[in-house]
Amino acid sequence: MDTRPSGPAPRGSGAEEIIRFDHVTKSFGDNTVLDDLCFSVESGKHVTLIGPSGSGKTTILRLLMTLEKPDSGLIRVNGGQLFPADEKQRREVRKRIGMVFQQFNLFPNMTVLRNITEAPVRVLGLDKDEAEQRARELLELVGLSDKTGAKPSQLSGGQQQRVAIARALAMRPRVLLLDEVTSALDPELVAGVLDLLRDIARSTDITMLCVTHEMNFARDISDEVFMFDGGKVIESGPPERIFTDPVQERTRDFLGAVR
Ligand code: ADP
Repeated sequence: MDTRPSGPAPRGSGAEEIIRFDHVTKSFGDNTVLDDLCFSVESGKHVTLIGPSGSGKTTILRLLMTLEKPDSGLIRVNGGQLFPADEKQRREVRKRIGMVFQQFNLFPNMTVLRNITEAPVRVLGLDKDEAEQRARELLELVGLSDKTGAKPSQLSGGQQQRVAIARALAMRPRVLLLDEVTSALDPELVAGVLDLLRDIARSTDITMLCVTHEMNFARDISDEVFMFDGGKVIESGPPERIFTDPVQERTRDFLGAVR
């Protein structure tokens, strides 16, 4: 990953770049959350964003989901431009980005199966039977084959999060965003969801961008870790270095506090 403070992406320098933030700034009122932020992620990598609460990690995921707009700067994903871009272009790029939220965000009135088929049918234009077949395969993958007809309220938090993961995968994303996906779960349900995500990370070529306080999980699945503070990436590198030998004092303090 490249966290140089400025300049466009180098061309022809090896692995394919799938995400790029170039000089991205985002403020809420007087609060500058992202400050001239530059980074890139190579295709297929698993990157974890760490840093104190309020350092802008979720805002990065929300920008990629087009739930927020940057004040300035450029965001590219999967060879297309997300910002600046017109709505049509943005929708096209956005189709290949999936997100799993802290609070699951399932459609409460739809069955588990319909939660998973809805977007592939509506957004990708998949045939209903084809979408259902794929949904059943994904439910098997996440261990919920027997819950196709259940409503989200009939499931545990861990099961709901598994459905949310299946729903994100149903869109065949190139990029999967994971925002504190275990923090709303009862402690005994956390390990199962993390194990599932580890399996997905190992068995697919999906690029993952993950915000988590689960440092063991971050260490386990990440190719690279980004430490955020003050609207910038202050340090990045492979987990074995960041977690054992961080360069920045703020990284050491942060890791000391969350362990
Ligand atoms: P993190 O994920 O690192 O905890 P966030 O990206 O959620 O940080 O938030 C960064 C800062 O932006 C926080 O100070 C938060 O209060 C503020 N913020 C985020 N979203 C909004 C919003 N929609 N309106 C106003 N302030 C916001």
